Amino acid sequence: MERLTVKGLVLRETPVGDNDKLLTLLTAERGKMTVSGRGVRSLRSRHMASTQQFCYASYTLVKSKSIYPYISDSELIESFFGLRGNIERLAFASYVCEVADHVSVEENGDVDLLRLVLNTLYAASAGKKQIALIKAAFELRCAAVLGMCPDLSCCSVCGVKEAQLFYLDIFEGNLVCPDCMERRPSAEKDADGDGSSYQPRGGYQRPVSIVTPEILNAMRYAIGSDIAKFLSFTLTDDALISFGDIAERYLLHQLGCSFRTLEFYKSLSVHD
Ligand SMILES: [Zn+2]
Repeated sequence: MERLTVKGLVLRETPVGDNDKLLTLLTAERGKMTVSGRGVRSLRSRHMASTQQFCYASYTLVKSKSIYPYISDSELIESFFGLRGNIERLAFASYVCEVADHVSVEENGDVDLLRLVLNTLYAASAGKKQIALIKAAFELRCAAVLGMCPDLSCCSVCGVKEAQLFYLDIFEGNLVCPDCMERRPSAEKDADGDGSSYQPRGGYQRPVSIVTPEILNAMRYAIGSDIAKFLSFTLTDDALISFGDIAERYLLHQLGCSFRTLEFYKSLSVHD
């Protein structure tokens, strides 16, 4: 029988029978993996602590005749204990794991995605940063890790690098300066006049977001900084609201879907 050892984060757990679980792991070595936890729901199981959702652990797996390898040994590395007992942090962590589950693939190790998810859960668990800021930075950085990074270097039409504000084309992932937006034929401009969308030449209505210099700096930082420090920035309250709106819209547009756990997170009335 083949044995292998992986370090993985439990993205999802599915009860099977009376005492077993199927676990969906995100690993650096093999991307997403489904593994079987035999007897791990038993109170006597020594694997109980390392087979809960949000746990990061080292697992020794054995490949047998069954479809999924089973856990023969495990050692908890990080439980992200601070997520428990706080509904907002827990709901956010569930969203992070659902996104990671959606975008990761089997047999394709992705160290950057795993590091992003671990750093995000660590910050949410520590409770020192606003969840709204962690969420927005995670969403932007996640898009970047997946190769969907917006081009925030300059106006995509004229190339100007500095402006009082830019518009971000959510679909194309690039910036348009106010002058270039103004020069577009009137039919191409925002149909509602509120700056929330515009119609490019011969195209469909595209969503745009207004990006102030403060927000642009934050976006560039969240995307381009060292992953260990990608949350080391602050924003004013108003800017954080816009930053959060832009990041969420951008990731969802790029992925072309929404997430059940995101709806739940947003249904919670108390946000810090
Ligand atoms: Zn321009």
